[in-house]
Amino acid sequence: MALDAQGVVRFVGDVPKGAACGCFCPTCNSPLVARKGEEKEWHFAHEAAQERPECAAGAENLARALGIEWLRAMQAKGALRLPDYKTRVSSAVLPLDGELVQWPVRLVGPLLWHEHAPKNHPVATASLDSGVPLALFVQVGESGVLALQDLPPNCAYGSLIVAPNWPAGTRTREDAMAAINQTVTFRWGFHPDMKGLVASAQRRLEEREQRIRAAQEAYQRQQSEAAGRRWAQIARMQQGHQTQQSQLELQETGLFPEPATPAARKPVSDEEAPRYSVAPGHAPNCNFQFFRLGPDEAWLYYLLDPRFVSQHPTAAERVHNPDAPSAKRWAIAPAFGQFDGWDECLPPSVGIADEENGMYWARGGVGAVIFLSQRSKGSHSAHDPAEFASK
Ligand SMILES: [Zn+2]
Repeated sequence: MALDAQGVVRFVGDVPKGAACGCFCPTCNSPLVARKGEEKEWHFAHEAAQERPECAAGAENLARALGIEWLRAMQAKGALRLPDYKTRVSSAVLPLDGELVQWPVRLVGPLLWHEHAPKNHPVATASLDSGVPLALFVQVGESGVLALQDLPPNCAYGSLIVAPNWPAGTRTREDAMAAINQTVTFRWGFHPDMKGLVASAQRRLEEREQRIRAAQEAYQRQQSEAAGRRWAQIARMQQGHQTQQSQLELQETGLFPEPATPAARKPVSDEEAPRYSVAPGHAPNCNFQFFRLGPDEAWLYYLLDPRFVSQHPTAAERVHNPDAPSAKRWAIAPAFGQFDGWDECLPPSVGIADEENGMYWARGGVGAVIFLSQRSKGSHSAHDPAEFASK
């Protein structure tokens, strides 16, 4: 392409060959010759081949000029349409979660042309049905930084993009227009958010971000609370062993009553109190301490009935602790009835097996409870041994 004496874009196939073409370089204004040889692609060249480096930019200027011509031709046919405005609302926090917002845009009235607009400046302005002005640019390829500084506030803008390269054999205006029709695109730069569609998409995205942040915080809180609970449980277990021991020590010496019973429990006289065969000789209304030592091994620790103790004076005497004189005696029995070898599970330092009655006579002091609680995987207390069935 080149410019003729009137400044019209001319194509190498549309002009006479050689210097008779009457064309000039669009950059340096030097006269050109049209070369239409047999071997090389037809082209314009400077006379005497005095090509200057900056003249290569002329091709881009001409492509831009042709883009403007194409726009004028489309407007003359009433065929100029803008594509829907599209913009992507995205977030750095949720890069995959963006939202595409779009709305239709129509031209209202004719384009107002800016004659001889410098490169990267609007070639025309127009009004849009959304009530805002439009600045229209023509860009060749991806090159160029648009001059936006002179646009009025709230002005929409977009670019007609003309391909920088022409298909081989583009020699006439007809060829060039056919190529432009195939390759031209329109790219929106900006349109004010007149209906608040972008704002509401941003709000939705921010809400999603907040929900995710809240869920992350809740998870972290949950993790730290769970860690806190584990430590509290360990502390309770250690403390529990200590209170259990000191209470039992006090009970042994008769200075402290049996552990307080749940408020819901009705007072029942010793004669009416229920008897549990799983705890031979237990005192009426006594509290049972349950110790789970393994999947098949669990024990009850309980106070013996004074009448049972007096009926077995020999055994009672053997477990008597002279350092803690007390009439009370304590027993250990298999929590769910006797099993093979039950009487050989506990060492003599803890208690003496009584095969006849199906229980151990616990040694005085808190040795038995310490032995059981140190090996225990779970300890519970109740007035009815049936409550341990699921423990
Ligand atoms: Zn030139």
